[in-house]
Amino acid sequence: QVSVHFPQGRHGLFAGPAAVLRAVENVSLAVRPGETLALVGESGSGKSTLGQVVAGLRDPTAGALKFHGRPMGKTEWRAARKAIQIVFQDPFSALDPRMPVSDLITEPLRIQRLGTGAERRRRAAELVGQVGLPLDALNRYPHEFSGGQRQRIAIARALAPDPALIVADEPLSALDVSIQSQILNLMKTIQEERGLSYLFISHDLAVVNHLADRVAVLYLGRLVELAERADLFAKPSHPYTAALLDAVPRIGRGRRRRGRSLKGEMPSPLNPPPGCVFHPRCPKAQDICRVTPPALEPAPGRPRHLAACHFKE
Ligand code: SF4
Ligand code: MG
Repeated sequence: QVSVHFPQGRHGLFAGPAAVLRAVENVSLAVRPGETLALVGESGSGKSTLGQVVAGLRDPTAGALKFHGRPMGKTEWRAARKAIQIVFQDPFSALDPRMPVSDLITEPLRIQRLGTGAERRRRAAELVGQVGLPLDALNRYPHEFSGGQRQRIAIARALAPDPALIVADEPLSALDVSIQSQILNLMKTIQEERGLSYLFISHDLAVVNHLADRVAVLYLGRLVELAERADLFAKPSHPYTAALLDAVPRIGRGRRRRGRSLKGEMPSPLNPPPGCVFHPRCPKAQDICRVTPPALEPAPGRPRHLAACHFKE
Protein backbone atom coordinates (compact mmCIF):
# COMPACT_ATOMS: atom_id res chain seq x y z
CA GLN A 1 0.00 0.00 0.00
CA VAL A 2 1.56 3.27 -1.08
CA SER A 3 0.86 6.98 -0.96
CA VAL A 4 2.64 9.78 -2.79
CA HIS A 5 2.26 13.32 -1.50
CA PHE A 6 3.88 16.41 -2.96
CA PRO A 7 4.29 19.20 -0.41
CA GLN A 8 3.61 22.54 -2.09
CA GLY A 9 5.95 25.41 -1.26
CA ARG A 10 4.83 28.46 0.68
CA HIS A 11 5.98 30.74 -2.08
CA GLY A 12 4.43 32.42 -5.07
CA LEU A 13 0.80 32.94 -5.87
CA PHE A 14 -0.50 30.50 -3.29
CA ALA A 15 1.57 31.76 -0.37
CA GLY A 16 -0.15 30.65 2.80
CA PRO A 17 -0.21 27.52 4.88
CA ALA A 18 1.75 24.86 2.98
CA ALA A 19 -0.58 22.54 1.14
CA VAL A 20 -0.04 18.90 0.25
CA LEU A 21 -0.89 17.47 -3.12
CA ARG A 22 -2.09 13.92 -2.54
CA ALA A 23 -1.30 12.36 -5.90
CA VAL A 24 -1.66 8.76 -4.74
CA GLU A 25 -3.55 7.92 -1.55
CA ASN A 26 -3.30 4.49 0.10
CA VAL A 27 -3.31 2.44 -3.07
CA SER A 28 -2.81 -1.29 -2.65
CA LEU A 29 -2.37 -3.37 -5.79
CA ALA A 30 -0.64 -6.59 -6.80
CA VAL A 31 0.47 -7.42 -10.34
CA ARG A 32 0.43 -11.19 -10.90
CA PRO A 33 3.01 -13.10 -12.92
CA GLY A 34 2.19 -13.04 -16.62
CA GLU A 35 -0.83 -10.77 -16.37
CA THR A 36 -1.65 -7.38 -17.80
CA LEU A 37 -3.07 -5.13 -15.12
CA ALA A 38 -4.46 -1.96 -16.66
CA LEU A 39 -4.43 1.25 -14.66
CA VAL A 40 -7.11 3.62 -15.94
CA GLY A 41 -8.52 7.01 -15.01
CA GLU A 42 -8.66 10.58 -16.29
CA SER A 43 -5.46 12.60 -16.56
CA GLY A 44 -4.47 13.80 -13.12
CA SER A 45 -5.79 10.65 -11.44
CA GLY A 46 -2.30 9.64 -10.29
CA LYS A 47 -1.73 6.83 -12.81
CA SER A 48 1.71 7.96 -13.96
CA THR A 49 2.86 8.80 -10.44
CA LEU A 50 1.91 5.32 -9.28
CA GLY A 51 3.65 3.82 -12.33
CA GLN A 52 6.82 5.72 -11.45
CA VAL A 53 6.70 4.33 -7.91
CA VAL A 54 6.30 0.79 -9.24
CA ALA A 55 9.22 1.32 -11.64
CA GLY A 56 11.42 2.58 -8.80
CA LEU A 57 11.72 6.08 -10.27
CA ARG A 58 9.99 7.71 -7.34
CA ASP A 59 9.87 6.88 -3.63
CA PRO A 60 6.44 6.63 -2.05
CA THR A 61 5.77 9.10 0.77
CA ALA A 62 4.26 6.28 2.80
CA GLY A 63 4.18 2.54 2.35
CA ALA A 64 6.49 0.30 0.37
CA LEU A 65 6.51 -2.02 -2.57
CA LYS A 66 6.91 -5.76 -2.28
CA PHE A 67 8.63 -7.86 -4.88
CA HIS A 68 7.94 -11.60 -4.69
CA GLY A 69 6.47 -10.94 -1.27
CA ARG A 70 9.53 -9.13 0.10
CA PRO A 71 9.40 -5.44 1.03
CA MET A 72 11.64 -3.34 -1.17
CA GLY A 73 14.12 -1.18 0.68
CA LYS A 74 16.97 0.70 -0.95
CA THR A 75 19.20 -2.41 -1.12
CA GLU A 76 16.53 -4.69 -2.56
CA TRP A 77 15.84 -2.08 -5.22
CA ARG A 78 19.34 -2.30 -6.57
CA ALA A 79 18.95 -6.05 -7.05
CA ALA A 80 15.40 -5.85 -8.37
CA ARG A 81 15.98 -2.89 -10.65
CA LYS A 82 16.49 -5.06 -13.70
CA ALA A 83 13.26 -6.96 -13.02
CA ILE A 84 11.03 -3.89 -13.46
CA GLN A 85 11.41 -1.70 -16.53
CA ILE A 86 9.36 1.19 -17.92
CA VAL A 87 8.23 2.30 -21.37
CA PHE A 88 7.11 5.92 -21.62
CA GLN A 89 4.39 7.59 -23.62
CA ASP A 90 6.53 9.76 -25.84
CA PRO A 91 9.06 7.82 -27.91
CA PHE A 92 10.45 11.14 -29.20
CA SER A 93 11.73 12.43 -25.88
CA ALA A 94 12.36 9.09 -24.13
CA LEU A 95 15.42 8.19 -26.21
CA ASP A 96 18.68 10.18 -26.04
CA PRO A 97 19.12 11.55 -29.60
CA ARG A 98 22.94 11.36 -29.36
CA MET A 99 23.07 7.61 -28.79
CA PRO A 100 22.98 4.98 -31.53
CA VAL A 101 20.25 2.37 -31.10
CA SER A 102 22.72 -0.32 -29.98
CA ASP A 103 23.83 1.86 -27.06
CA LEU A 104 20.26 2.85 -26.22
CA ILE A 105 19.21 -0.78 -25.97
CA THR A 106 22.22 -1.90 -23.93
CA GLU A 107 22.30 1.11 -21.60
CA PRO A 108 20.25 -0.60 -18.84
CA LEU A 109 22.74 -3.50 -18.98
CA ARG A 110 25.76 -1.18 -18.80
CA ILE A 111 24.31 0.72 -15.86
CA GLN A 112 23.81 -2.52 -13.96
CA ARG A 113 27.09 -4.01 -15.19
CA LEU A 114 25.38 -7.02 -16.73
CA GLY A 115 27.36 -9.07 -19.24
CA THR A 116 30.50 -8.29 -21.24
CA GLY A 117 30.61 -5.82 -24.13
CA ALA A 118 30.34 -8.65 -26.66
CA GLU A 119 27.40 -10.23 -24.80
CA ARG A 120 25.61 -6.92 -24.69
CA ARG A 121 26.10 -6.39 -28.42
CA ARG A 122 24.71 -9.86 -29.12
CA ARG A 123 21.75 -9.12 -26.90
CA ALA A 124 21.03 -5.84 -28.75
CA ALA A 125 21.12 -7.67 -32.10
CA GLU A 126 18.68 -10.30 -30.78
CA LEU A 127 16.35 -7.66 -29.40
CA VAL A 128 16.06 -5.46 -32.52
CA GLY A 129 14.92 -8.59 -34.37
CA GLN A 130 12.39 -9.46 -31.68
CA VAL A 131 10.78 -6.03 -31.88
CA GLY A 132 10.61 -6.20 -35.68
CA LEU A 133 13.44 -3.86 -36.69
CA PRO A 134 16.22 -4.66 -39.20
CA LEU A 135 19.70 -5.42 -37.90
CA ASP A 136 21.14 -2.23 -39.41
CA ALA A 137 18.93 -0.23 -37.04
CA LEU A 138 21.62 -0.81 -34.41
CA ASN A 139 23.99 1.72 -35.91
CA ARG A 140 21.41 4.41 -36.57
CA TYR A 141 20.10 7.23 -34.38
CA PRO A 142 16.58 7.85 -33.00
CA HIS A 143 15.81 10.73 -35.41
CA GLU A 144 16.10 8.31 -38.33
CA PHE A 145 13.02 6.41 -37.14
CA SER A 146 9.27 6.98 -37.09
CA GLY A 147 7.31 7.20 -33.83
CA GLY A 148 6.24 3.56 -34.03
CA GLN A 149 9.80 2.41 -34.70
CA ARG A 150 11.07 4.48 -31.80
CA GLN A 151 8.54 2.84 -29.52
CA ARG A 152 9.89 -0.53 -30.74
CA ILE A 153 13.38 0.64 -29.74
CA ALA A 154 12.07 1.70 -26.32
CA ILE A 155 10.48 -1.75 -25.89
CA ALA A 156 13.74 -3.49 -26.89
CA ARG A 157 15.56 -1.37 -24.32
CA ALA A 158 13.04 -2.28 -21.61
CA LEU A 159 13.42 -5.97 -22.51
CA ALA A 160 17.24 -5.92 -22.38
CA PRO A 161 17.63 -6.92 -18.71
CA ASP A 162 14.95 -9.64 -19.15
CA PRO A 163 12.44 -8.03 -16.76
CA ALA A 164 9.53 -9.72 -14.98
CA LEU A 165 7.36 -6.60 -15.21
CA ILE A 166 7.14 -3.71 -17.63
CA VAL A 167 5.34 -0.53 -16.61
CA ALA A 168 3.95 0.89 -19.86
CA ASP A 169 2.78 4.48 -19.35
CA GLU A 170 0.40 5.31 -22.22
CA PRO A 171 2.77 3.62 -24.71
CA LEU A 172 0.38 4.06 -27.65
CA SER A 173 -1.13 7.49 -27.15
CA ALA A 174 1.60 9.45 -28.98
CA LEU A 175 1.32 7.17 -32.03
CA ASP A 176 -0.88 7.26 -35.13
CA VAL A 177 -3.94 5.07 -34.76
CA SER A 178 -2.73 2.86 -37.63
CA ILE A 179 0.51 2.18 -35.75
CA GLN A 180 -1.11 1.63 -32.35
CA SER A 181 -2.42 -1.84 -33.14
CA GLN A 182 1.01 -2.93 -34.42
CA ILE A 183 2.67 -1.94 -31.15
CA LEU A 184 -0.18 -3.47 -29.16
CA ASN A 185 0.22 -6.77 -31.01
CA LEU A 186 3.97 -6.66 -30.53
CA MET A 187 3.47 -6.19 -26.77
CA LYS A 188 1.05 -9.13 -26.70
CA THR A 189 3.43 -11.41 -28.62
CA ILE A 190 6.34 -10.51 -26.37
CA GLN A 191 4.22 -11.24 -23.32
CA GLU A 192 3.18 -14.64 -24.64
CA GLU A 193 6.78 -15.54 -25.45
CA ARG A 194 8.27 -14.39 -22.16
CA GLY A 195 5.43 -14.66 -19.66
CA LEU A 196 6.14 -11.16 -18.40
CA SER A 197 3.63 -8.90 -16.66
CA TYR A 198 2.49 -5.46 -17.74
CA LEU A 199 1.23 -2.62 -15.65
CA PHE A 200 -0.48 -0.91 -18.56
CA ILE A 201 -1.36 2.73 -17.90
CA SER A 202 -3.98 4.07 -20.28
CA HIS A 203 -6.97 6.32 -20.62
CA ASP A 204 -8.09 4.45 -23.75
CA LEU A 205 -10.67 1.92 -22.62
CA ALA A 206 -10.96 0.29 -26.05
CA VAL A 207 -7.25 -0.58 -25.88
CA VAL A 208 -7.61 -1.74 -22.28
CA ASN A 209 -10.53 -3.99 -23.24
CA HIS A 210 -8.31 -5.54 -25.89
CA LEU A 211 -5.25 -6.16 -23.75
CA ALA A 212 -5.94 -6.30 -20.00
CA ASP A 213 -6.58 -9.28 -17.76
CA ARG A 214 -7.63 -7.09 -14.85
CA VAL A 215 -8.40 -3.39 -14.56
CA ALA A 216 -7.70 -0.96 -11.72
CA VAL A 217 -9.55 2.36 -11.82
CA LEU A 218 -7.99 5.39 -10.15
CA TYR A 219 -9.86 8.54 -9.26
CA LEU A 220 -8.10 11.46 -7.59
CA GLY A 221 -5.27 9.17 -6.49
CA ARG A 222 -7.60 6.59 -4.94
CA LEU A 223 -8.22 3.08 -6.18
CA VAL A 224 -12.00 3.02 -6.71
CA GLU A 225 -12.50 -0.26 -8.57
CA LEU A 226 -10.45 -3.41 -9.22
CA ALA A 227 -11.83 -6.37 -11.18
CA GLU A 228 -11.35 -8.86 -13.97
CA ARG A 229 -11.54 -7.07 -17.30
CA ALA A 230 -14.60 -8.86 -18.68
CA ASP A 231 -16.50 -8.44 -15.42
CA LEU A 232 -15.64 -4.75 -15.15
CA PHE A 233 -16.62 -3.94 -18.73
CA ALA A 234 -19.84 -5.96 -18.57
CA LYS A 235 -20.97 -4.81 -15.16
CA PRO A 236 -19.02 -1.97 -13.55
CA SER A 237 -19.71 -1.59 -9.85
CA HIS A 238 -18.49 1.96 -9.20
CA PRO A 239 -20.46 4.91 -10.67
CA TYR A 240 -17.20 6.51 -11.88
CA THR A 241 -16.26 3.43 -13.90
CA ALA A 242 -19.80 3.23 -15.28
CA ALA A 243 -19.53 6.84 -16.42
CA LEU A 244 -16.11 6.26 -18.00
CA LEU A 245 -17.50 3.27 -19.92
CA ASP A 246 -20.56 5.22 -21.03
CA ALA A 247 -18.28 7.78 -22.62
CA VAL A 248 -16.70 5.17 -24.92
CA PRO A 249 -18.33 5.16 -28.35
CA ARG A 250 -19.28 1.65 -29.45
CA ILE A 251 -19.01 0.87 -33.12
CA GLY A 252 -22.19 -0.70 -34.48
CA ARG A 253 -24.09 -0.43 -31.24
CA GLY A 254 -24.48 3.31 -31.15
CA ARG A 255 -23.69 5.15 -27.97
CA ARG A 256 -24.95 3.61 -24.81
CA ARG A 257 -26.96 6.29 -23.08
CA ARG A 258 -27.83 5.60 -19.54
CA GLY A 259 -27.65 9.15 -18.33
CA ARG A 260 -24.52 8.40 -16.37
CA SER A 261 -22.01 10.45 -18.29
CA LEU A 262 -19.52 12.41 -16.23
CA LYS A 263 -20.41 15.91 -15.24
CA GLY A 264 -17.98 18.57 -14.10
CA GLU A 265 -14.23 18.36 -13.69
CA MET A 266 -12.08 16.30 -11.41
CA PRO A 267 -11.47 18.39 -8.23
CA SER A 268 -7.92 19.45 -7.36
CA PRO A 269 -5.93 16.81 -5.48
CA LEU A 270 -4.76 19.76 -3.34
CA ASN A 271 -8.21 20.04 -1.91
CA PRO A 272 -10.07 16.73 -2.24
CA PRO A 273 -13.76 16.67 -1.26
CA PRO A 274 -14.65 15.09 2.11
CA GLY A 275 -16.31 11.68 2.30
CA CYS A 276 -16.28 9.91 -1.04
CA VAL A 277 -13.99 12.01 -3.25
CA PHE A 278 -16.28 11.29 -6.22
CA HIS A 279 -19.45 12.65 -4.57
CA PRO A 280 -19.56 16.09 -6.29
CA ARG A 281 -19.80 14.35 -9.67
CA CYS A 282 -21.70 11.23 -8.68
CA PRO A 283 -25.30 10.76 -9.90
CA LYS A 284 -25.97 8.31 -7.03
CA ALA A 285 -24.55 10.40 -4.18
CA GLN A 286 -26.47 10.36 -0.87
CA ASP A 287 -25.85 12.14 2.45
CA ILE A 288 -23.47 9.46 3.73
CA CYS A 289 -21.25 9.98 0.67
CA ARG A 290 -20.50 13.58 1.65
CA VAL A 291 -19.26 12.47 5.07
CA THR A 292 -17.88 8.91 5.12
CA PRO A 293 -15.20 7.69 2.71
CA PRO A 294 -16.17 4.26 1.33
CA ALA A 295 -13.72 1.36 1.72
CA LEU A 296 -12.56 -0.73 -1.23
CA GLU A 297 -14.54 -3.95 -0.72
CA PRO A 298 -16.08 -6.78 -2.77
CA ALA A 299 -19.34 -5.92 -4.49
CA PRO A 300 -22.36 -7.96 -3.30
CA GLY A 301 -22.04 -11.54 -4.56
CA ARG A 302 -18.82 -10.72 -6.46
CA PRO A 303 -15.90 -11.71 -4.22
CA ARG A 304 -13.21 -10.78 -6.79
CA HIS A 305 -14.78 -7.50 -7.85
CA LEU A 306 -13.74 -4.68 -5.53
CA ALA A 307 -15.24 -1.21 -5.47
CA ALA A 308 -15.02 1.77 -3.14
CA CYS A 309 -18.65 2.90 -3.00
CA HIS A 310 -21.43 2.86 -0.41
CA PHE A 311 -23.90 1.85 -3.13
CA LYS A 312 -21.97 -0.73 -5.18
CA GLU A 313 -23.76 -2.44 -8.04
FE1 SF4 B 1 -21.22 7.91 -5.54
FE2 SF4 B 1 -21.60 7.68 -2.94
FE3 SF4 B 1 -20.65 5.64 -4.29
FE4 SF4 B 1 -19.15 7.79 -3.88
S1 SF4 B 1 -19.90 6.38 -2.32
S2 SF4 B 1 -19.35 6.70 -5.76
S3 SF4 B 1 -20.66 9.40 -4.02
S4 SF4 B 1 -22.66 6.55 -4.52
MG1 MG C 1 0.09 10.35 -17.35
